[in-house]
Amino acid sequence: MFTVNWLTHVFLDYKGSVNQQTIHGVYTDSRTEMTNGLFVPISGENFDGHDYVLQAVDNGAIAVLWSKQKELPEALSSSLMVFYVEDTLAALQKLATAYREKINPVVIGITGSNGKTSTKDMVAAIMQTTYRTHYTQGNLNNHIGVPLTILSMKPDTEVLVVEMGMNHAGEIKVLTNIAKPDYAIITNVGESHIEFLGSRENIAKAKLEILLGLSDKGAFIIDGDEPLLQHCHGQKRLITCGFAEHNIYQITKVHIQDNATSFIINKATPYTIPFLGKHHAKNATLAISVGICMNIDVEQIQLAFYHIQKTGMRFEKIKGKNGVTLINDAYNASATSMKAAIEVIKQLEDYSEKILVLGDILELGAHTEAIHRSVATVIENPITNVYTYGEASKYITDAVIEQGSNISAAHYTNKAELLHDIKPHLHEEAIILFKASRGLKFESILAELKR
Ligand code: ATP
Ligand code: MG
Repeated sequence: MFTVNWLTHVFLDYKGSVNQQTIHGVYTDSRTEMTNGLFVPISGENFDGHDYVLQAVDNGAIAVLWSKQKELPEALSSSLMVFYVEDTLAALQKLATAYREKINPVVIGITGSNGKTSTKDMVAAIMQTTYRTHYTQGNLNNHIGVPLTILSMKPDTEVLVVEMGMNHAGEIKVLTNIAKPDYAIITNVGESHIEFLGSRENIAKAKLEILLGLSDKGAFIIDGDEPLLQHCHGQKRLITCGFAEHNIYQITKVHIQDNATSFIINKATPYTIPFLGKHHAKNATLAISVGICMNIDVEQIQLAFYHIQKTGMRFEKIKGKNGVTLINDAYNASATSMKAAIEVIKQLEDYSEKILVLGDILELGAHTEAIHRSVATVIENPITNVYTYGEASKYITDAVIEQGSNISAAHYTNKAELLHDIKPHLHEEAIILFKASRGLKFESILAELKR
């Protein structure tokens, strides 16, 4: 995929004996099978990838980016192509930038507090109808994942869809300057990582960093209902999507069924998506708007939604013991996504018991209590039971009890006790939502309840 000649243009400081080779891929994890690969050791807080170079070579690496400050093991110096660099992470990012420039696909960058992966899956499905498309696998959306995503695209790629995640201010700036999107999407502004960013205003600012790398060809596409993005309205090449009338793509008539959500855009075009909830209708509309910009027919977009490859643990419906319906939405959680999931459960028909099993939302710092309590505002009929598990999620239970409804609410710190109390709900007429930050490991609770 990359010739050594090309790599020597990117990295001037090269030492090696095996010339004119082709390098088939770029890897940062020495445990991966990497025949004819380039290994990029990254130094982290608790580990240093340079220490694992022998393992990478055993797994097929024929070349490395190597920090000038590190000793290369003697045994490797003659057999390996070595590109010496100041900083291997910066070099990985530089390599991705150079490769993206060389292949020159149309780039669609996606950021936002919630819905990046879901929107990315929808954009990719739409683009694949018409273009050779490469897109972020799973959730590889950070300073290492974005370069690896770019570097794994095939040379004939026409469209590249890149998810961009962040925890701190300044991170999206780095990613957007590597990916240089032609289309930049902001799915929404929530309160994820508010511990590091301080306020929702700062979160919005951090998302808007995506504009720093935006090319002058495409468009900037946002959740047009978000007040913190209102100041963007009227901007050149801006596309707004949402429920309010002022949006360029207005969503109406959202109908949530058992396995799909249908809605209408601009009072004319119907769509059905295999995701549940109003929020996904909005994600889909962001994706549709890029599809339209890229001249894809509406019929093809409608059809693309039937063939979507969803990333796991996102509102995944599972049949559990005694025919109970379990919803695994425990990939991650923020108050926004937790509330959105609860709204979906409230709207589903066919269930006489609607149970929420909610865990802590992490990384909220000083906002922990207020944000957990805010979740309770959407917990009302027809929800029948709320079980919280962990520490901070107790605030949700407290607030539900204080609201004085007839919803039964209890908090647990012990998984076995929680499982014991869930057992009476294992029957065909019950639906149970599992939602928590990943750190709570809700998959282990779900494993006990699966058929
Ligand atoms: P991460 O930061 O972990 O990469 P993400 O932004 O990629 O998350 P998804 O994985 O698509 O987001 O979805 C995460 C959760 O957020 C899911 O529970 C999903 O249903 C919910 N969600 C998706 N889109 C929205 C939205 N627009 N508003 C609120 N919640 C949403
Ligand atoms: Mg994601």
